[in-house]
Amino acid sequence: MERQADWRQEKAQALARARVVVIKVGSAVLTDAQGLSTPVLESLARQMAALRTAPDGHERRLVLVSSGAVAAGRAVLRAHGHSGETSGLSARQAAAAVGQGQLMRAWDEVFRAYDFPTSQVLLTRDDLRARQRFLNARNTFAELMDWGVLPIVNENDTVSVSELKFGDNDCLASLLVNLIGADLYINLTSAPGVYAANPQEVPDAGILECVEDVAGLDLGRMCGGKTSVGTGGMYSKLQAARRAAQLGVPTLILPGREADVLARAFGGEAVGTWVRPEEHAIPRRKFWLAYQSDPAGTVLVD
Ligand code: GLU
Repeated sequence: MERQADWRQEKAQALARARVVVIKVGSAVLTDAQGLSTPVLESLARQMAALRTAPDGHERRLVLVSSGAVAAGRAVLRAHGHSGETSGLSARQAAAAVGQGQLMRAWDEVFRAYDFPTSQVLLTRDDLRARQRFLNARNTFAELMDWGVLPIVNENDTVSVSELKFGDNDCLASLLVNLIGADLYINLTSAPGVYAANPQEVPDAGILECVEDVAGLDLGRMCGGKTSVGTGGMYSKLQAARRAAQLGVPTLILPGREADVLARAFGGEAVGTWVRPEEHAIPRRKFWLAYQSDPAGTVLVD
């Protein structure tokens, strides 16, 4: 994609023309101390259902990456008299097993009002490493979207062991941008957007409307903190946006709890942060080789 001089125009066009969109929602958006927040899920389902039709009448295909299994599981455990302590890996994996069903049931219920059938896709990094499995997964997503079904994706936390983990759903969503050939990545987060500086160190740091060159950012300096319920923080959101940018795909980082935030952003309101794509996209197969394949082989020195 040739880079336009004006990012505002680029953003308006990219939003209007987007046909395949990955939308990631973080645990801190979806849950509160009591567990999953039904009003938040209802609002997001209504907004996503509306996005299915572009302004020119074309169909948009959506894939939702939803965190929240561990947080939802923790709330169930607490309600049953357990501490809900999930700092250890196996407790986290087990809490995800408790919460994943709750998460899917909650999403399915809110999307039913919009006649939008849902499907559950749980992935581990290993699933996308072998080229054949990667291609199979791609075909399954295509089939689901052909049927008008919404794939709701999460990491398969219960079986992911540390070296196989995506690490966080920001990363998983950016790899799905490649897998399904998305042309837009939306990351709904608990923050209002990307701060110009770490807000823990610079309390009056403003929100960047646009990140021009995500590859050139010093992420370690800009981002310190993590949210308490997710695993990512802004560092991983920008890293994921950097990957999408390499594919020539822009990222929109939005405050997921703000009323009608998707509708407002698509309507042209300046909300959240727009991360510009790279001028020269890398081929999708090279992206897979860089981030998704398992390096193998030996070097023989004669
Ligand atoms: N897979 C985790 C969950 O559903 C969330 C990972 C993340 O926060 O990125 O709870």
